[in-house]
Amino acid sequence: TATIQTTVPGLSSTGHVGTAPELTRMERIGAHSHIRGLGLDDALEPRKTSQGMVGQLQARKAAGVILEMIKEGKIAGRAILMAGAPGTGKTAIAMGMAQALGQDVPFTMLAASEIFSLEMSKTEALTQAFRRSIGVRIKEETELIEGEIVEIQIDRSEAGVGAKIGKLTLKTTDMETVYDLGQKMIESLNKEKAAVGDVVTIDKATGKITKLGRSFTRARDYDAMGPETRFVQCPEGELQKRKEVVHTVSLHEIDVINSRTQGFLALFSGDTGEIKSEVRDQINQKVAEWREEGKSEIVPGVLFIDEVHMLDMECFSFLNRALEDDMAPVVIMASNRGITNIRGTKYASPHGIPIDLLDRLLIIATTPYSETEVRQILSIRCEEEDVEMTEDALDVLTQIGLDTSLRYSIHLITAAHLVAVKRKASEVDVEDIRRVYSLFLDEKRSVQYLKEFQSQYMY
Ligand code: ATP
Repeated sequence: TATIQTTVPGLSSTGHVGTAPELTRMERIGAHSHIRGLGLDDALEPRKTSQGMVGQLQARKAAGVILEMIKEGKIAGRAILMAGAPGTGKTAIAMGMAQALGQDVPFTMLAASEIFSLEMSKTEALTQAFRRSIGVRIKEETELIEGEIVEIQIDRSEAGVGAKIGKLTLKTTDMETVYDLGQKMIESLNKEKAAVGDVVTIDKATGKITKLGRSFTRARDYDAMGPETRFVQCPEGELQKRKEVVHTVSLHEIDVINSRTQGFLALFSGDTGEIKSEVRDQINQKVAEWREEGKSEIVPGVLFIDEVHMLDMECFSFLNRALEDDMAPVVIMASNRGITNIRGTKYASPHGIPIDLLDRLLIIATTPYSETEVRQILSIRCEEEDVEMTEDALDVLTQIGLDTSLRYSIHLITAAHLVAVKRKASEVDVEDIRRVYSLFLDEKRSVQYLKEFQSQYMY
């Protein structure tokens, strides 16, 4: 059988897996850098404003419930749809989920349109995205020392307590460990004032006493006892010392590392190309073996697919099939479309998703923000970007956010800040907002402009 590598030589593979170092992705993450979680309390109730999250209480609560299901491993293979108008926080909530999941659960983001631009087939791109979102937690034992303690003898007559270890039998050749662990055991035995006839259970790794059954016959006062020899027996004293190393890698990373045509350097360039199905088969088989032997666990992660209406029938049938797999990640899709044609067909369907897939989705709806909420999100973004803004300016910006879009008004923060700096002001004021509002068009005004000057453009 082939050996499968799971680490890149000289590199630790712990940490968040599955994020490709692409520029577009970095920018997207920047827009959500203020999101640090879902902002829920222990009872999964959303706090009004917490961890950078504002409002959208229902959706956040629903996302929290799904998180719980993910953590309990009860949702693998299911899919979720975040449905709502542009800028209502679908991506933000998905990011919040990623943050709350913790470091070694893979979270992958994919804009549906991306899979049409890569130099590989659509199904290969989707397969890679799926495999990026499945973690394999691998346990490796570096060292195994086993031993059985027959007796430990503590002799108080020697210089200091525990100066002599007698009859300590360990089935190991590593004397350093014996000595080290022996010392620790003696230390804790003495600390607990264990004595002849006591029955102790000793922690296998640390040498500390975890259970101590006092003998009835032993003398009450340990210190009053003479310098005679005492024995402490350890009937359960099987001693084991292992160093366990756990690391999590994604299936995709294992694929790339073991793909002879690519080599692990492809992990850094992101240029992985197509991976042969034999490689994947071999890896799946190996991972299944490891699972059986208790050497590894599968950590189903999350695959976030934005603009899901951009997928076509071929992709949807791939998704339907892939979700059946017992290692499938949780797939979260997002759509800001209502009823629209399924890409490449003349059939209209809600969100452009075929009915059979739609049927298996849990749908979370996001709703438009109130004025107070828009103001609060903008204020959080100012803080995140280290921008001071007057209350009046924030009012104007909030109004712009309501009239145009939340995302447009968020973008104006950085621009307005630059203008304020230029006039040597420490705070962004109304005039700076006005200035950038006239400099940069929002979508509505841009369309208006195009209509007016259409004849001057190429078409
Ligand atoms: P689209 O449909 O256009 O992809 P979306 O629903 O995914 O939009 P986001 O990108 O999540 O919207 O939101 C736009 C911006 O507003 C982002 O910077 C996001 O972090 C921020 N934002 C949205 N909702 C919230 C919220 N509830 N709390 C804090 N920030 C939010």
